[in-house]
Amino acid sequence: MDFASKIRDVVDFPKPGIVFKDITPLLQDPRAFQTAVDVIADRHVGSKLDAIVAVESRGFIIGSALAYKLGCSLVVVRKAGKLPAKTISTRYALEYGEDELHIHEDALQPGQKVLIADDLLATGGTVRATGQLIRQLGATPVEAVFLVELNGLGGRELVNDIPCFSLMSFD
Ligand code: 5GP
Repeated sequence: MDFASKIRDVVDFPKPGIVFKDITPLLQDPRAFQTAVDVIADRHVGSKLDAIVAVESRGFIIGSALAYKLGCSLVVVRKAGKLPAKTISTRYALEYGEDELHIHEDALQPGQKVLIADDLLATGGTVRATGQLIRQLGATPVEAVFLVELNGLGGRELVNDIPCFSLMSFD
C-alpha cells in the first residue's frame, strides 16, 4: 500500500513558511485507513497491552481505532483545560514557546503496559511529554506509533527511551 501518496502537503499552514502534512486524504480512503490501522495493530497482537494512550487531537483518530482492534482501553492525553476530572500535567517546549499536556490521574494503573498513538512524529516533544505522564502514573510505554515521521528533526533521538514505529517517513 502506497501510504505516502495519501498524505497531502499544505503550504503555509498553520502559518507562513510551514508545510503541513495533512493526513485527511488517508482517512478518507477506507482501504488505506483500514490497512494503516491493521499494519500497526498487527505488531501488537498477543502482546497483552493494557491501554492505548492517544494524544490530542489527531492521535485520537488512530488511537481509538487501535484500542477497538486490540481490545484494550483508550486513554486520552489532552491540552490544558479539556479533561474534566483531576489530572497530572507536564509542560514541554515547542519551537516557539511552551505547551502543557494533561492526563487523568486515575487513567492508568502502576505496572500497566501502554502504546502511545499520534498521527505524526516531528521533534518528539509531544511524545516525550506523553511518556513522562505515563511513567508518573507508574505505567510503561512499550512503543509509540505514528502514521507519519518527519526525518531530520531529531524526534527519535529525543524520545530515545521509547521505541518508535511509523508507517511512513518523509525527508
Ligand atoms: P512534535 O512534538 O513531535 O514536534 O510534533 C508532533 C505533534 O505536532 C503531533 O501531535 C502532530 O499532531 C503535530 N504536528 C506537527 N506538525 C504536523 C504536521 O505537519 N502534520 C500533522 N498532521 N501534525 C503535525
